Amino acid sequence: MKCPICKHGETINGAASMTLERSGATLVFKNVPAQICNNCGEEFFNEEITTSILKQAEFAVNEGIEFDVRQYRAA
Ligand SMILES: [Zn+2]
Repeated sequence: MKCPICKHGETINGAASMTLERSGATLVFKNVPAQICNNCGEEFFNEEITTSILKQAEFAVNEGIEFDVRQYRAA
């Protein structure tokens, strides 16, 4: 798709890290499938993936995890 941020680049399939902060906890998900702009480098995550990550983050917070770096796994 055309990048909505810089309006010049095209996004390509790639992987990026996503960092979430939730109730004082910090969670980093690595290798999250993303669309990355070939011009400005902005990363876009689709809704399905974002929802899945939010759920995983919620779960981790409930487990009492305060900081974690994990590989993204599709739900
Ligand atoms: Zn861009």
